[in-house]
Parts: sequence; structure tokens; C-alpha cells
Amino acid sequence: MTAIEYTQHPRQGRLARFGLWLRDHRRAVMAVQWGVVVVYAVLLIGPAVLPLPPAGAHVWDNLTLFAQFLFWGVWWPGVLISMLVFGRLWCGIFCPEGALSEFAARHGRGRATPRWMRWRGWPFTAFVLTTVYGQLISVYQYPLPVLAILGGSTVAAVAVGYMYGRNKRVWCRYLCPVNGVFGLLAKLAPVHYAVDPQRWNAPSHSPGAMTPFTCAPLVVVRKMKGASDCHMCGRCAGFRDAVELKPRRPDHEVVNVAGESASLWDSLLIITGLMGVAIGAFQWSASPWFVAAKQALATWLVRHGIVWPLEQSLPWFLLTNYPDRNDVLTLLDGVVLVGYIAAAAAAMTLAVGLPLALAVRITGRWDWRRFHHLGHGLIPLAATGVVLGLSSMTFTQLRADGFALDWVGPLRVWALGGAASASIWLMWRILGRYASALPRAAASVAASAALAAPIWSLWLLFWHW
Ligand code: SF4
Repeated sequence: MTAIEYTQHPRQGRLARFGLWLRDHRRAVMAVQWGVVVVYAVLLIGPAVLPLPPAGAHVWDNLTLFAQFLFWGVWWPGVLISMLVFGRLWCGIFCPEGALSEFAARHGRGRATPRWMRWRGWPFTAFVLTTVYGQLISVYQYPLPVLAILGGSTVAAVAVGYMYGRNKRVWCRYLCPVNGVFGLLAKLAPVHYAVDPQRWNAPSHSPGAMTPFTCAPLVVVRKMKGASDCHMCGRCAGFRDAVELKPRRPDHEVVNVAGESASLWDSLLIITGLMGVAIGAFQWSASPWFVAAKQALATWLVRHGIVWPLEQSLPWFLLTNYPDRNDVLTLLDGVVLVGYIAAAAAAMTLAVGLPLALAVRITGRWDWRRFHHLGHGLIPLAATGVVLGLSSMTFTQLRADGFALDWVGPLRVWALGGAASASIWLMWRILGRYASALPRAAASVAASAALAAPIWSLWLLFWHW
């Protein structure tokens, strides 16, 4: 299926015009970007220089609590959901880090991107390291860790922008810790910049259609088939009369395009990262297994006369350390925390990977590419788990502020039910590319079993513990 198949869609005209509007109104876009930079700086730095909120403070009368609410309850879940609706429009138009990195690249050294930076494992590795580090220093609870993680990431983005790539977003393309996650979610967006190869190669074009443009996230526009890497900035709209913002079926890219480039890193990010590490990170503080593991290890250590790991704390930027709040993680806590997340990730990888592997085997000879493609079917459930996990902090905060949130439970049920159905549908469609009716049905049943472990883990978190 090519982009040309979508030319008859009734909304095409308006969407295409919006893409061209973005291209032609760079000043307005930049004004929005700098506006977001200012809001971001206030929310990031303001709480870090203020004292911690006093007892009895509320979201509406304390900047720190308000910033926490906005970052983790509105900003991040909103950005993730926006990927599913508009593709990476956030990255291209609103992201303060991307804007700053590109600004630095406009005035920087413009060096070639080093080879190590282009390693395909960075999206997974950066996501896992950031998630685990965030838990160790309690990024959801305190402003200094937010400044360390988000601010540190922004400083790195500016430094990389200054050093590498003239007018480019090398940081966003290769190193941003959420680049991989955003790229996966954008594959489900119902809009994308479609490239028509026939028009691209046509001998003549309309006036202005050959005006050169810069694709900041380094997409090879001529070969672009999906929305995964595109930041939806609109700068290529109308180029060679071939590039146009268009609607598409939300399952189009995952079913028809993702299989061409699906790799181990995609599966690791979806299964081990979003379903394993992220759920483990949301879970540990509520988990009775975490407490049991810690007690067992503490008992063993005491019995062997080793008590310092039970008493040793570290500075706040290595391990949570707020004695005034009665919130200090010892070395033992930190080790068990990392162990818990690692165990959750390993267990989830097995519990999800084995049914997928069985499904692949049912469709024929073993094929890793097919396995990684099938794994893309889990994106809706993985994304929903992360959005629900992030928003749970906010719901806890709002409940503490006296809001009745009886609708949250049913909302979670509907969200998980919808996401599970979408994942089953996607896997059914993907398997349709590899198998005839009977093996496809059998493989779909096997693949559906992969949903059990993540749903069970979220059920433990939201309803059982
Ligand atoms: S392909 Fe590049 S230039 Fe075109 S909209 Fe996407 S990010 Fe912008």
C-alpha cells in the first residue's frame, strides 16, 4: 500500500493546507517554541529553588505541587497521547528541548555526527537508564531530581546541538531518552506526511515546489514511508509537489511498513522497556514482593554481621535522601529497587516473548524479523500502561487534595480494554501478512496470550495492592 491510496480522503484538503501553513509560518512556530521554553524553565527551575511544600499545601497554592501535577499528570501523559493522535507534532512544534537543541545547532560547530551516537540501541538504553535513575532519586516526588533529569537532558541536548549537525536535531534523532518511545507511538497516528514517489520523480514541478528545506531530525524525506522519525514540522510540505500531510488508517504503518525495519531494539523497547521496566518502576513502591525481598535480604545480611548496607544513605542525586520528610533510601533499598525492576523486566520479557515466539512459529519457519514485527502489535497496550502509570501519581495527589475520583477505576478498565482490543486487532492484521486463515487464527490466539502478563501486572498495581 502506498501513500497515493489516500488521495481521495475528504479531509485531505484541510490537512494538507495545515501542513503548508506550518511550512509558511515558521515565525509563529518559533514563537510557540520559545513560549514553551519559558514555561518549561519556570516549572523546572522554580520548584528546585523553593523550599519543599509545607504540610497541607495544595496543587493550586504551591508551585512545586502544581509543577509536579503538570509534569507527571498532564504534560507527559498528554505528550504520549498526542503521539497517538498527531504523530510527533509535539517534537516538531512544542518540545522545548528540541527547539533549544536546534537553536544551538544553528550557531554551533556543525561537526559530523560521531558513529557511536548513531548506535541503534540508544533509544532502549537511554529509556531504561533514565527510568531506573528516576526511581532511585524519586523523580516523581521531589523537584531537584526533576531538575537533574529533565534539566540534565536539556543541557545535554544543547551541548550535542552545539557540537554536531548544522541546523539539525542530532540529539532528538539519536540520543533523546524518549525518542524511541515517541517513534513507536507515532506509528499509530492517523496522520502523516505522505511522499508520492511518482510526483517526486516527475520532470517538472509547480513554482516554489523546489525550494530547499532542512529536515531537522535528519529524515530522508524521499524515502519516508512512516511517521516514526518525522517531527511533523511541515518544512517539507509541498516539496516537489510530492509531500503532503494526509490522513491514514491508524494501523497502516504498524501493519504495512513496520515489518521492513523491525529490529531487536524495537522488541526490547516495547516488551522489556515499556512493559517490563516501566511497569516495574510504577509497581515497586506498592509491591509486597519488594518488601518481602528487602526483609529477606536484610535478615540474611544481619545474620552474617553485615549491617552497613541497611544504614548507608547516599546524596540525593544518587539515592533518595530527604531526612526531613522521613524519606531516605538506604543502599539496601537501592539494590532491591534495581533488582525488582530488573526482575520485573526479565519476567515480562519471557511472559510476553514466549507466546509471541509460539505465534511466529505457528506461521512457519522461525523468523526474527517476523517476531519483531508482531511485537509492534503490543504498542497500544504498552503505551496505555505507561500513560495510566504516570497519571496514577496525579490521581493520588488529587485524592489527597480532596477530589472525589470515582470515575478513575472505570476509566482504567475502559482504557485497558480498548488498548488490549487494539493490540489483538493489530497482531491479527500483522499475522495476516504471514499466514493463511487457519494458522493465522491459531497464531492470533497464541499471540493474544502475550497480553496476560502486562494486564495482570497493571491489575495488581491499580486494583489489588
Ligand atoms: S520529514 Fe522532516 S521536514 Fe518533513 S515534516 Fe517531517 S520532520 Fe519536518
